Amino acid sequence: MSPLTVGMPPTVLVSGASVAGPTLAFWLARAGYAVTVVERTDGLREEGQNVDVRGAAREVLRRMGLEDAALAATTGEQGTAFVDDRGRDIAAFPAGTDDTSGPTAELEILRGRLGQLLFDATEHDVEYRFGDQVRGLDQDANGVDVTFASGAQERFDLVVLAEGVNSRTRALAFPEARKQHLGMVIAYLTIPRQDDDTDWWRWYVAGRGRGVSLRPDDVGTIRAAVNLMTDTRGLDELDSAGQATVLRRAFQDVPWGAPRILDALADGAPFYFEDLAQMHLPSWSAGRIALVGDAAWCATPVSGIGTTLALSGAYTLAASLAATPDHRAGLADFEQRMRPFVAKAQSLPPGTPGLANPRTDRGRALLWAALRLAASRPAQRVGGLVGGALGSFGRPPADAYRLPEAPSAVAD
Ligand SMILES: Cc1cc2nc3c(=O)[nH]c(=O)nc-3n(C[C@H](O)[C@H](O)[C@H](O)COP(=O)(O)OP(=O)(O)OC[C@H]3O[C@@H](n4cnc5c(N)ncnc54)[C@H](O)[C@@H]3O)c2cc1C
Repeated sequence: MSPLTVGMPPTVLVSGASVAGPTLAFWLARAGYAVTVVERTDGLREEGQNVDVRGAAREVLRRMGLEDAALAATTGEQGTAFVDDRGRDIAAFPAGTDDTSGPTAELEILRGRLGQLLFDATEHDVEYRFGDQVRGLDQDANGVDVTFASGAQERFDLVVLAEGVNSRTRALAFPEARKQHLGMVIAYLTIPRQDDDTDWWRWYVAGRGRGVSLRPDDVGTIRAAVNLMTDTRGLDELDSAGQATVLRRAFQDVPWGAPRILDALADGAPFYFEDLAQMHLPSWSAGRIALVGDAAWCATPVSGIGTTLALSGAYTLAASLAATPDHRAGLADFEQRMRPFVAKAQSLPPGTPGLANPRTDRGRALLWAALRLAASRPAQRVGGLVGGALGSFGRPPADAYRLPEAPSAVAD
């Protein structure tokens, strides 16, 4: 990419400091770019539950020298157990013991912890600006003029949006972006740990399109989630009080897990509410503006592979850009490498996520029977049978993607 000023390193603005943004910044900085990361919140966000780092993404962390630190920060989750109305195990799947397999990955880490590791690894080589965001983008053949909410104006050689599925800046350059809702909302929150909690991810299929899950963390609390199949859209735009009311009405008769979650909500516990949607775009770049991570291709949490895609995709984008002086060729190469992997991740099994959240008693009985059967089979069947039933865990295999060579000095 020819830089704005001859003899100066090319400048890149990355918007979003969660997983994809700092990973991209790490590798671009290593390749000699001058990188600025802007994040709209006032600091790194701590929220979020356990995310899986599998296959190719695990290799990305390895190449960043962060694998050991990430392994030392795992949540300690021992596996996934589906439970009945009284919390008794129906089917249990121990954690994976390699880079890729099992509902619970070996590298299971809180999203906020992973974000912190990535930030720590980049803060000296990258300029971070918190509490600001892009308001305007105006590009020509040689660069992008960026107007920030703070009023600042600056020109960059390239702008990459890593703002997650609900990116607002995306619409400025990609009006054709299409959101495909899955008909399910999830609320995540942290609740106090109690004596009968375990280090397993316990998942209760509650019927009438509802589910409750409790997961351990390594800081002495429990990461809870409730999910609800619903045809009503726009719930994510309600205020917190409105969302809490929706959850209270939907889960008040659910016997396991829900009472303590509703108590926490009544006590004002903060929660993160998501209306699950995939992002589909015909292209992940428009001139000198590009997308990466969930902003480009969100596959949703039911894919089980969002963080893996973000890490591998950000690494690949940096490698593709650094390999050529022509940013168009670099962006095309990135897209060509990542599209097949993303397409597989987004192609959820038929019936997902409804099959895992049956609305009828009969549907729930069938699911429980399938889970019992899956748990009685050798571990290698888990990805197929349980993945097929629940629509996640190992589709596609996260090691099916081959990473390019590590980005090196930016091509002249
Ligand atoms: C707070 C939070 C909690 C999450 N919890 C879970 C979870 O429990 N389970 C799960 O599977 N996935 C969770 N995710 C999603 C998960 O992190 C992603 O699926 C995956 O890691 C891909 O990450 P990403 O970096 O592409 O996007 P994201 O992780 O969504 O990060 C996007 C970043 O961009 C920032 N941003 C948004 N808009 C702007 C803007 N206009 N200007 C500047 N910055 C902006 C956001 O504040 C955020 O830091 C969570 C994401 C967030 C932000």
